Amino acid sequence: MPDDIKLKIDGHEINVPEGTTLLQAANSIGVSIPSICYHDHCKPNAVCRTCVVELEGARVLAASCVTKVSEGMTVYTQTDRVNRSQRTILEMLNSAVDLSDAPEIMEMLDDYSTNSERFTSGNEREISIYDDNPMYIRDYSKCVLCWRCVQVCADDAQYTYAINFSGRGYETQISTFFDRTLLESTCVFCGQCVGVCPTGALKAKREWLLECGYSPEETMFTERNAP
Ligand code: SF4
Repeated sequence: MPDDIKLKIDGHEINVPEGTTLLQAANSIGVSIPSICYHDHCKPNAVCRTCVVELEGARVLAASCVTKVSEGMTVYTQTDRVNRSQRTILEMLNSAVDLSDAPEIMEMLDDYSTNSERFTSGNEREISIYDDNPMYIRDYSKCVLCWRCVQVCADDAQYTYAINFSGRGYETQISTFFDRTLLESTCVFCGQCVGVCPTGALKAKREWLLECGYSPEETMFTERNAP
């Protein structure tokens, strides 16, 4: 058994096994920390930075999904600095990404009283829908680049490696090799990526056709493209 580590989170003294992350430690006592990229079945990767916390004596905020507990640590999850950082990340995401199909993130926007006018000069991502196979559509204008789909396509589940990041900075996007169609990639259409996507950027083709106004009977023919 790993040794117990004693630490304090928001004034609560707790003991947790060595190797526990701050996010897990907080959750174990009912302290909720928001996160977007974190998923219970994926390796944490600290991509979104919404799960940051303040550590006594540390200069910078720490991503709680990847920071392990250590003896005597004092952690704060609700300081002004933490809240300001989380709110700013959400406001920036909201300025660039279509979050209309991401109910959990929309709820966070409300919880943090975000200001949708703060970054109005930012460019909203406008990327054409990839409708290149009978199983799923990919709408990267709704993608928050959480990396979950890439992880489950790779070492966290499927070992297929059909997709990964491409581009840099604002142009960063999830893509296949050389932006080929999914049919030309190593994709086996297992659906793991669709299952973990938090924003509706990846969607079953039938669901999408229904949203486009087709009848359930018509959606049987998923090779059909939407109007
Ligand atoms: S497509 Fe979905 S799962 Fe993949 S990075 Fe974008 S938001 Fe995350």
